[in-house]
Formats: sequence, structure tokens, C-alpha cells
Amino acid sequence: MAIVEPLAAAAGERRRWALTSPVDGSALGEWEVATATDVDEALARARRAQPEWAARPVTERAAIIRGAVDVLLARKEEIVEALRAETGKPRAEALTIEILPSCDFLNHWGARAKRQLRDERKRLHGYLLPVKKLTVNYQPLGVVGVITPWNAPFVLSLNPVVQALLAGNTVVLKPSEVTPRSGEWVVRVLREAGVPDDVVQVLHGDGETGAAMVAGDIDKITFTGSVATGRKIAEVCGRRLIPCTLELGGKDAMIVCADADLERAAAGAVYLSMFNTGQVCLSVERIYVVEAVADEFIRKVIEKARAITYGAENKDMGPLFSDRQLEIVRRHVEQAKDKGAVAAVGGAPGAGDGLFFQPTVLVDVDHSMDLMTQETFGPVAAIMRVRDEDEAVRLANDSEYGLSASVFTRDPATVERIGKRLITGSVVHNDAATIYGVAEAPFGGRKSSGVGQVNGVDALRKYTHAQPILIARWATKSEHVWYPYSDKTLETLESILRYAFGNRFVRRLMS
Ligand code: NAD
Repeated sequence: MAIVEPLAAAAGERRRWALTSPVDGSALGEWEVATATDVDEALARARRAQPEWAARPVTERAAIIRGAVDVLLARKEEIVEALRAETGKPRAEALTIEILPSCDFLNHWGARAKRQLRDERKRLHGYLLPVKKLTVNYQPLGVVGVITPWNAPFVLSLNPVVQALLAGNTVVLKPSEVTPRSGEWVVRVLREAGVPDDVVQVLHGDGETGAAMVAGDIDKITFTGSVATGRKIAEVCGRRLIPCTLELGGKDAMIVCADADLERAAAGAVYLSMFNTGQVCLSVERIYVVEAVADEFIRKVIEKARAITYGAENKDMGPLFSDRQLEIVRRHVEQAKDKGAVAAVGGAPGAGDGLFFQPTVLVDVDHSMDLMTQETFGPVAAIMRVRDEDEAVRLANDSEYGLSASVFTRDPATVERIGKRLITGSVVHNDAATIYGVAEAPFGGRKSSGVGQVNGVDALRKYTHAQPILIARWATKSEHVWYPYSDKTLETLESILRYAFGNRFVRRLMS
């Protein structure tokens, strides 16, 4: 089954594709792919609209964004329906992964915008204080392109789009070709809340459309997706010297310590590897359990994984969202079994027409398997026994990825100790993927998992240029160090060096 099927197009016509449901293969409609000309026209509209949008007081932009919560709640059922049609995710997951965090982001950024974006007066240090004043203002960058994936197509589009808008930019969103309607809903909600049409736009298309956007008249790209595409985008942005934020793939490790609450650890292992059918950048993809508690932990994981129901109609687990993804999961699991892994639960595609894969628990896995080194993005709990915490940390760091990690222990001090040794963007105690929903947490990957961060206390400022404006305190005709150089100039410079920096006590006062 193909989820995105290109349709024949006559010469000069726009390319089109047909979309089919991952649940049962039923037709979901046909879509026109935006051409490079469409992209240029959308970017030009965004460019023209930007000064007026940026000129509005931030409080006005924030009021619109806060009001979007009401629109989102009023449109909730239609959005959930679009999400479920395109991805097959259970209603509970449409609400927890997409709708709830989206309301929270709108509400949070809407409330924070004024504080994060207002001009700041900075107190200068040392010898500059008597002569200069400094303000920093946060200038919008201009036109921001947001390119997003299919696994959480609503919230992963909404969050960057809203941040960029609040900062005074205009935005063109290109959602994944696998989930066009779900992504489009972000723009529909924001327009209904009062964002003008040319200030927030959506373009449908695939990699070609995305590439045209990155090559177009744009001032920043925020990309969420695979490492391979992220590298291509970084190369173009690097050549053009425009900033990009890249949120890329992950291979997150979960470490189960000897003192862990094994009931919670097992429930977490199953849920955090399998929710959204395992298609979360922050999914638990590798589990390292210390030998002392491994038997009991694995027994509990098997028991809980066996209880998961999967299929259409609000079962615990939906299908994989695309045929390509199902193939990757199947390949990783097959290769692991060939190399000696044992499928304690599941281990094969599910029955029926949809892109289902059985909830799977694999034990006796190791790092010779793609399952433990490459992103699987499927409903698989892969469990490896380790001697102790040191071995767990070594193996967790043995990865080209570094998005996040989790540590299951009763002792928060253990999380701090282990966490500081992990080369990952974040670390979570007795939980995992929730970190993305914590707006205050600067979220982003290390190594191949990304460049830059979304969220955090300065999130909105990442869509601005912090422009310092240095003000002269006094209306003097000249400065001591300007032409012509004289003995007096040299005397002044020598005095500053002698009195300001030649004495340790004064030096501290001047710092
Ligand atoms: P993908 O890279 O195939 O596609 C992502 C988006 O990029 C799509 O909209 C696609 O059309 C577009 N695109 C493709 N080629 C392009 C090009 N050359 N130039 C510009 N745009 C292009 O990724 P995917 O398969 O849609 O998403 C899954 C991946 O996303 C996984 O690796 C997952 O881990 C990652 N992801 C990361 C995060 C994070 O926050 N770190 C969050 C969610 C998903």
C-alpha cells in the first residue's frame, strides 16, 4: 500500500498526488503540489505583509494568538478527525500529543510574548557606564519558512509557526506530504483567530516544494524531520548564510537502575516506546536495564505489552503512518532476529489491510543490530541487559544521535549524576517524551539530532535578531581617542589601563 501516490500530470500541469488511509487503504483525496513559482509568490506575499505585521504592538499579536485557543477548542473535533484520517492515531493520542500541548503552547507563548520581546535596557560595566547607555531590541527576522514532518503534524507545525508570528515575522508553512490536512489546520485556526492571510500561509508539497522554499527569499528556516533532509537544508542555509533550526531524529535510551520502581519502569518502557506507534522523535528506542533487576523488569514489560490492543477505532495503538515506515520497522526487527534477538512479544506486521505492526518486545539485542543504532520509529521495546550504570551510560552514548534520554530510579540525585554524563539534548526522570511539552525547557538535539533549540525561556527571541543600540550619554564634540592623536590621547589611554586594570580591586569593580 502506498500512502502518497504520485498521479500522472500532463506537461505544464502542476504535479498531483493521491493520499490513502494507513488504517484501511481508503482514498483520502488528491492534492496539488505547489511549484517553485507558487513558492516564490507565497514568499513575496509574506515579504510584503511583514512590515505591517511587525509594526503592530506585540500585545496585539499576542492577543490574537491567545484567542486562537478558543478557535482550536471550537474546531477540536474537525482537527482530530483530520489527524485520525491521515495517521490513524487513537483519539486519546490525538488529544494528548497534538491538541493539549497546542493549547498550552498558544496560551504560554501568548502570555510570555510581551516580556520576552520588549526592548531591554542593559546596565553597562566599568568605564563605559559614565559615557554610554545600551538598549537591546528584538527585531523580527522577516519571512520564516517552517517545514514539518508527519508524526505529530499539528503540534510540530503549530509551535514554531506561533513563535515566529509572535516575534513579528510572517510565516510560510510546508507540512509533510503525508499529512497535509493536519498541517493545514494550523493555518486555518490562526487565520480564524485573526492572523491576516498573507501573514501565515500554507504550501502543500513534497521535498521539491520544501527545497524551493529553502532556496527562496527567506530569512530563517525551522525544520523538523529526518537527519538526511536536515543535512541538505543546513548545506543550503550555510551557503546562503541564513539561520536554521534543525530538530532531527533520535535514538533515545532509557536506563533502568537497580533501585527503580519496576512497575512504573515497565509501564513507561511499553508506553514510551509504543505511543504514537513508536513514531516520536523522543520515543524510547533502546532500553538498558541493570542485570540485578532485569528478569523482573522484562517479565513485567512482556505482560504489559501483551495487553496492548491495536487496530482501527480507538484501540491502544494505531498503524504506522506510512508504508515506508512500516518497511523500516519490519527490516530492523527481521535483521535483529537474524542476529540473535528474541521476540518475546509480537515481532511481525499485523493482520488486515492497514499498516499495522504488532506491539513488539525484543530481548537479547545488541549494538551490532540496526535496531539499536538507527532510528526504528516503530512500536518496539528493545531491551538489553547491562552490568551496571557505567555500562548503561557507555552504551547510551554509543550513538550518532543525542536527542534525549530517560533514567528510571527512585533517587533524583542518580538522575543528575547519570544525566550529566549523557551526551543528549535533555534528560528526563521516570518519564521521557514529555520534555517537548515543557515550554520552559530549551529542547534540541546534540550530535546528529539537531542544531539549535526550540522552547525555553528565550524561545521567541530565536525568531529575532537581538539588536543592541548604543546611546551616547553626553553631547560632546569628539571622543578622547578620535583624531588627531596627541600626547593627551596617549595619556588618557595609559591612565585607563593603569587605574582601571592595573589594580585588582578596581578591576573587580570595573567588571
Ligand atoms: P523528512 O525529512 O522525510 O521530511 C520532513 C519534511 O521535510 C517534509 O515536509 C518533507 O516534505 C520535507 N522535505 C523533504 N526533502 C526536503 C528538502 N530537500 N528540502 C526541504 N524540505 C524537504 O522527515 P519525516 O519522515 O517527515 O519525519 C520523520 C523524522 O522527523 C524522524 O527522523 C523524526 O525523528 C524526526 N522528528 C524530529 C523531531 C524533533 O523535534 N527532533 C520531531 C519530530 C520528528
